[in-house]
Amino acid sequence: MKTAIGNGIIELVEGDITLQEMDAIVNAANSSLAGGGGVDGAIHRRGGPEIMAETDRRYPNGCPTGSAVISGAGNLPARYVIHAVGPVWTGGKAGEAELLTGAHRRCLELAAEHGCQSIAFPAISTGVYGYPLSLAANVAIETAIQFMQQHEQPQLVRFVLFGRSAYEAFDAALQATASVNSM
Ligand code: ADP
Repeated sequence: MKTAIGNGIIELVEGDITLQEMDAIVNAANSSLAGGGGVDGAIHRRGGPEIMAETDRRYPNGCPTGSAVISGAGNLPARYVIHAVGPVWTGGKAGEAELLTGAHRRCLELAAEHGCQSIAFPAISTGVYGYPLSLAANVAIETAIQFMQQHEQPQLVRFVLFGRSAYEAFDAALQATASVNSM
């Protein structure tokens, strides 16, 4: 599914983010940037040890929740990996939405600063971190739309969803938000 937003496009695909040939792919990292399971494990496995060697060197103190840092992409078919730290869901009253918004916005800013025309996001925080899929989808889509309406780059924002239910949650969020924005 593709939707035009300003001069750009938001695209939803079901698949594996490590295979995406994009300028930047986003990792759902933890704040120590120590690697983990899920999408983080897949990125470091396929990308090779170079990625963590770089983040260890450049970001020895890790990255705060709600923000993101950038590195090269090792063996992956992308130019950059942007390591975003989403919040752990603890019920929704601990600022989770603001932190998830901040993580997405920082990824988009870093992509723009590094001249990236295309960026791929996974469904940050919706795995081990337990953020409800439909709520996370709304935050992710709304943040991307707002950023794209205000900035020229990136022109292509692709959400790479792992499994049907994640795809459907983002599809519903995109249809709801895009129709409000086009009114
Ligand atoms: P978090 O700790 O932020 O919750 P996870 O990696 O546990 O991060 O999960 C985030 C999302 O990424 C989940 O929806 C999970 O299904 C998905 N995911 C896991 N592996 C991949 C992959 N290779 N490509 C894209 N998405 C993935």
